[in-house]
Amino acid sequence: MDLRLGIKSRIFGAYLLVLALGAVLAFLVYTDSKHVADTSRQLTGNVVPQLNAINALKLDLLMQESVLYRYYINLDHERFLADYERIDNACVSGFVNLAEALDQRLLLQSVQGDYNRLGQIGRNLDAALKNKPRNTKRAAKLLSEAGEVVGRIHRELDVLAGDISSRVQQSGARASSTVETMQRRVILFAGAIFLISLFVGYYINVYINEQTERRRLAMFPERNPNPVLQLSPAGAVLYANPGTAELLKKIGAVSNDVRALLPLDLEKRLTSLRAKPASHELWEYTVEGGRTLECGIHWLPDLEIFHVYVTDVTERKRAQEGLIHQAYHDALTKLPNRLMFEEEFERRVYANDRAGMRAALLLMGVDRFRVVIESMGHDIGDLLLQAVVARLKHLLGEVRGQVRESTLYRMEGDRFAILVPGFATSQNPVWLAEQILEEMQQPFHALGREYHLSLSIGISVYPLDGQEAATLLRNAEAAMQRAKRQGGAGLECYTRDMNERAAEWLALENELRHAEEHGELRLYYQPQVDIASGRVIGAEALLRWEHPKLGLLVPSQFLALSEESGLVVSLGEWALYTACAQAAAADTPETRGLSVSVNISARQFALPDLAKRVAAVLQDTGLSPTRLELEITEGVAMQDIVRTIGVLTELKKFGVKFAVDDFGTGFSSLSYLKRFPLDKLKIDQSFVRGLPADENDAAITRAVIALGQSLKLKVIAEGVETRKQLDLLREQGCNEYQGDFFSKPVPIQEFDRLLAHASAPA
Ligand code: C2E
Ligand code: MG
Ligand code: MG
Repeated sequence: MDLRLGIKSRIFGAYLLVLALGAVLAFLVYTDSKHVADTSRQLTGNVVPQLNAINALKLDLLMQESVLYRYYINLDHERFLADYERIDNACVSGFVNLAEALDQRLLLQSVQGDYNRLGQIGRNLDAALKNKPRNTKRAAKLLSEAGEVVGRIHRELDVLAGDISSRVQQSGARASSTVETMQRRVILFAGAIFLISLFVGYYINVYINEQTERRRLAMFPERNPNPVLQLSPAGAVLYANPGTAELLKKIGAVSNDVRALLPLDLEKRLTSLRAKPASHELWEYTVEGGRTLECGIHWLPDLEIFHVYVTDVTERKRAQEGLIHQAYHDALTKLPNRLMFEEEFERRVYANDRAGMRAALLLMGVDRFRVVIESMGHDIGDLLLQAVVARLKHLLGEVRGQVRESTLYRMEGDRFAILVPGFATSQNPVWLAEQILEEMQQPFHALGREYHLSLSIGISVYPLDGQEAATLLRNAEAAMQRAKRQGGAGLECYTRDMNERAAEWLALENELRHAEEHGELRLYYQPQVDIASGRVIGAEALLRWEHPKLGLLVPSQFLALSEESGLVVSLGEWALYTACAQAAAADTPETRGLSVSVNISARQFALPDLAKRVAAVLQDTGLSPTRLELEITEGVAMQDIVRTIGVLTELKKFGVKFAVDDFGTGFSSLSYLKRFPLDKLKIDQSFVRGLPADENDAAITRAVIALGQSLKLKVIAEGVETRKQLDLLREQGCNEYQGDFFSKPVPIQEFDRLLAHASAPA
């Protein structure tokens, strides 16, 4: 704006300067040329007639002299008088003219004196010649005097003429110097005007460029797809670009009134904007059609107008809201996430706290979910998590009467949490956890397959187990980990020593990582006995860890903690290799040819190349495959039935045998069981323990034995500690047994000795 005013005023200033210079030049040229004109007028009007008059006078004088001479010669008095008078008249009028033209009276007076003398000579001559005798002598003398007088007058007139010429020369010189001055001035002025023209030309160029730029800029609002408006101070629309009509169409405005795009309280806003020192503001508002617009208004005080820029920010707003939703929700299950849990915790729990109520946090983890992912992939994993969530949601809906306002969160991976902000009795969260565990017992289905999943649930209670979200969560996690270590599918309430114990477990797990390389791992063998013959037919290899400080540790003290980290895989591989190698190396008559049972963990069973690995171990150790029996628990076998059938079938091809460990503790679907290419069912020791007194246990063992017989499977009972137990099992038709009654698990050297010396109790 300033620049434009500057350029304009500069151009105008230069224009005025040129005008002024022109006027001055015109004035000077006018005065100078007037001076020159006066000089030439003077020349033509005065000097030339003066010189003419002098010349005419000189001529007349010569003629007068000749009249005198002629009279002397022809003595014609009459003619002399006539001629003399005529020329005298001419001379007199010549003098009068000259006297008028010249101001040199003195010189003229002397000339006239001489002329009078000539008249006197003429009269004297007439007297000398008219009267007789003529006095010719005197006449001749008078004639020569007349010649002298005329000559003198001529000289005087020449002086006069010279004087006039010198004056003419002077004024001519003055006129020519005036003309030169004029020339110089004209050149000077022309130069100045040239420079000014350059200057003006430069600014005109700048001005034109600026105008072009302004015109170009003026096109911007026209091309802008968003509405651009110009408003008067009162808010009247002075200009609206084509984008305005587009947006009106987009929002489905009924009229073409652009005000439909502006805030309803526009006038108020404009007034306050004008009053403020800041001349720009941005507003967001909703217009008809529910769209959100953003309008930026600039107040331009020098132009006294508002510039308005309207943008449709509906999509941006939605995206922002979407992002916020995403930040607080889990994409897979659509559940609120951990961030939401942390943000909601205070509001929901503290409010209930004021009402004197407690809050419970149930943290749930899917047991062995890593195994699910590793064996079935993330897609199935995701589907199963969604199914778990659906079931949990359904349950929470059903128990709404007993547990108010409970919310389900997905914390991460397979971890879910239920926050129960206010509950009446302490039994409530435990009761809810039990409901959940029960609900999980039904199989899940994904992509046409059946899966069995269980949850481990850790419970912490506010304010007893923690006052903040993080503490409650950490303690619920400790409780959940304990539930997992107990084998999963269970619940644990947080107790104060849990965190300490958890720390110990963590330390132990770290040491376990190096147990193999430190040579601290051992395999103990427990004989398996054929009940009918009383002969040892095989042995189960059981892992032990000879801890340098803690002594000999059994699997329950270290194996569960290695499940989550995956360490169980390498431990299992060590056990498999060692068992096969030691069995292959057995060369006493008692041990040669015995079969060896090796436990396969869920993580190991999930390895996609399990069959290859087993085959490689058999090849390496040289053990006959028929002497190897692999034990998988019922839970592992049932997790993904189709896969189990595949793995079992593949390994069966080599002649490897399979036993279902801990049978009866899970929830085997009998219809699937018969499709598994199995060899043995191992009755879990928890059912043997109550024999023979516990009727339920007896019924279960009988049923399992009957099932085994009908499926043509061997049945082995584990944990047999007493003869009575053995007797009942024999009676029920059980094929084999293992347990402390025959022998505890023992190191390999002792095993050989045991078989060499001990005979099976019949
Ligand atoms: P499991 O396969 O069911 O093994 C039988 C468990 O019962 C063994 O416990 C054994 O010592 C114990 N047992 C045998 N007879 C009696 C008895 O008469 N009374 C009592 N009370 N217990 C008896 P252990 O050795 O502590 O092993 C526990 C579990 O650890 C095993 O249960 C098995 O699932 C797992 N395990 C052991 N070794 C390995 C291994 O090398 N790899 C894998 N993956 N798991 C293993
Ligand atoms: Mg076993
Ligand atoms: Mg067992």
